[in-house]
Amino acid sequence: MSTLTIADLQVSVATDQGQKQILRGVDLTIKEGEIHAIMGPNGSGKSTLAYAIAGHPKYTVDGGSITLDGEDVLAMSVDERARAGLFLAMQYPVEIPGVTNTNFLRTAKTAIDGEAPSIRTWVKDVRESMGKLRMDSTFAERNVNEGFSGGEKKRNEILQLELLKPKFAVLDETDSGLDVDALKIVSEGVNRAHQATGLGILLITHYTRILRYISPDFVHVFVAGRVAEEGGAELAERLEEEGYDRFLTGETAAV
Ligand code: ADP
Ligand code: MG
Ligand code: MG
Repeated sequence: MSTLTIADLQVSVATDQGQKQILRGVDLTIKEGEIHAIMGPNGSGKSTLAYAIAGHPKYTVDGGSITLDGEDVLAMSVDERARAGLFLAMQYPVEIPGVTNTNFLRTAKTAIDGEAPSIRTWVKDVRESMGKLRMDSTFAERNVNEGFSGGEKKRNEILQLELLKPKFAVLDETDSGLDVDALKIVSEGVNRAHQATGLGILLITHYTRILRYISPDFVHVFVAGRVAEEGGAELAERLEEEGYDRFLTGETAAV
């Protein structure tokens, strides 16, 4: 049983005004097969947590730890983290000019597995996943995310998720900018990956809408770089009704 453990994580980011502390001691444990939703107002540090897990160089870990089955994730390079089974679907997926989607996927799959996938099953797997995500086959030969609409980029992230088969996935606002049909398609993809491989999921979202399609086992409310409240799926329902206002009082109101 795989476990991703985040303990007392403190992270700062380099800004033009100097180093700014964002995460102020985050504790979070995700076990294989669990779905955790992180909800919270804009600017509360949700993406910073995602980037810290993925190893983005702009984010400095000032304290605490991230371990995957006891291995020190913070000591790993970005590539090593991917090989260890961590995956990040970014809030703003990057375009990679000059690299086709199919070459990108195959290269990533080969790097992560340590060997090239067999051509025949690979081509079939790619085609099947694209079909389920309602992606036209022409997307295989287009450059990664180049000229993709917001919704197409999000589907493309889930295509990577389905094919690369990580142990843990951080999905950063994969729901933002999606219409209802696209939201359903993307959610089905996430649920397929969850069921097929026992994927552990950290689902970052501002809105409760996606949680109608992907049921979280745990909900964590993020405020000012900390987990302010935790609960089960019912907590998301309360947030839907009450919003984040009651969390934004006192010292946190300035953020
Ligand atoms: P969320 O994803 O919850 O909206 P973020 O993690 O993106 O929050 O941002 C948390 C805070 O850190 C915000 O105040 C944001 O402006 C700041 N921040 C994050 N990344 C950077 C950066 N690269 N440069 C400057 N400020 C940043
Ligand atoms: Mg489950
Ligand atoms: Mg964000």
